[in-house]
Amino acid sequence: MSLVLHAPADFLPTNEFQPQLQQTLQALNLLGEAAHYQGREIFYPGTAFDRLLTFLGCAPCIETQMPEVGQSNTNFYYLELFCDTTQLHFLGGEKVRDPHCQHCRSAVAANALLQQWSISQETGIYTCPNCQQAYRPWTLNWRKCAGFSRAALIVHGVFEGEARPSDALLDSLNTVSAQRWKYFYQLSQ
Ligand SMILES: [Zn+2]
Repeated sequence: MSLVLHAPADFLPTNEFQPQLQQTLQALNLLGEAAHYQGREIFYPGTAFDRLLTFLGCAPCIETQMPEVGQSNTNFYYLELFCDTTQLHFLGGEKVRDPHCQHCRSAVAANALLQQWSISQETGIYTCPNCQQAYRPWTLNWRKCAGFSRAALIVHGVFEGEARPSDALLDSLNTVSAQRWKYFYQLSQ
């Protein structure tokens, strides 16, 4: 499970964007030390992690040791930057809820839509089976469980609704990209 903050689907990052984003988030102390985990570059939570994210229950107990291989540690939070200058990605988790048409609010079958989208990518324009309104997949209401983007900040270990980004964090992300960022929760099976 994770909290994903992402730029809108039409944001086109340059090659300089990821280092800029990293620098910004390190200066804010959201990102701590860089490390390698499961073959990826990750960051430990920085000293401002629990201020820049608002935890809705009790204060989190932040585990600073990586779990041993094969062990799961529910208090191990870590962060990852995602940036692809070449193509748009669907960033939902293993499980997604069916999104709703923004026009008539009827549900659209997520699995069939994502299968079609993985073939047609950005050229795909779909029609709502209920109201016949044309739409792009990212304009649907994904009910905070998925998003489409080329640039994201992923906070691993956050359960759905456990924490949300503070205004200060969203403001910084908006400023570094000149775009309005959104967030959702990746759901596991
Ligand atoms: Zn519709």
